[in-house]
Amino acid sequence: MNYSRFRKDFTDWKPTSEPPELHRMLYAWIGSEKRPPIEKGERATCQDCGGQLTAVMPVENVSHWRHKAGDCDPWSEPEGRWHLAWKDLFDVQCREIALRDPETGELHRADVLVGNGTPLATVLELQHSSIGEDERNARETFYQRSHRMFWLVHVHSENSFLGHYFGMSLDFRSRVVPLDGKEFAIMRWMGPNKQFIEKWKRASAHVFFHAGPYILYLAGSGVAARLGGPFKRGEFALCELTRDEFIAAVKWEDGA
Ligand SMILES: [Zn+2]
Repeated sequence: MNYSRFRKDFTDWKPTSEPPELHRMLYAWIGSEKRPPIEKGERATCQDCGGQLTAVMPVENVSHWRHKAGDCDPWSEPEGRWHLAWKDLFDVQCREIALRDPETGELHRADVLVGNGTPLATVLELQHSSIGEDERNARETFYQRSHRMFWLVHVHSENSFLGHYFGMSLDFRSRVVPLDGKEFAIMRWMGPNKQFIEKWKRASAHVFFHAGPYILYLAGSGVAARLGGPFKRGEFALCELTRDEFIAAVKWEDGA
């Protein structure tokens, strides 16, 4: 891959403005079909809590379902086109899968769950809004009890300059280290918001960033050690992959 072009492409990339993210649940079971609402006034029942769902069909956003009496997943976040586009890449049976802790009864809906019930089960959490470290930890603890877990973190500049600083930090030329047939580039965070990259470096699940047209795997502490780490504060390593490679990794089809 031509990383000098990479840098330029990223610098030229401007985040597009999207309508505000509004919806909560994209899919509900209507008879034997799992789908978004198709007409106003449509109703459904949440399979996870038995609550009533009503169709929400905003002109400027994605059609979705809303719990009449509040969402049964306390972690539920507003979702928009970015979530929808990613969920669409997986089989509908793998989208928005509720998991319950058998001991506490705690319930959360995984954005994507591939290989449910098998030793290869993988949860993919799609993260568009910023999330605190405590919440990141809580989700990792919950999902990693019986699943492998991937984060896909959307890097953008909707509410901050985060995407801008991220783009400035990308450097795929200075310190490139081959590892397992892939190339990792070690770089330094430019600008404020260092806690953003530090927080994701400390994740126990696998972390991927989706920034502009790129998908970048962030070296966790294990990989960092093999790249000559641990890294200093603000230092991190990324490895680029294509969307197809990313999806194959979620599905364990990459031979990992
Ligand atoms: Zn529910």
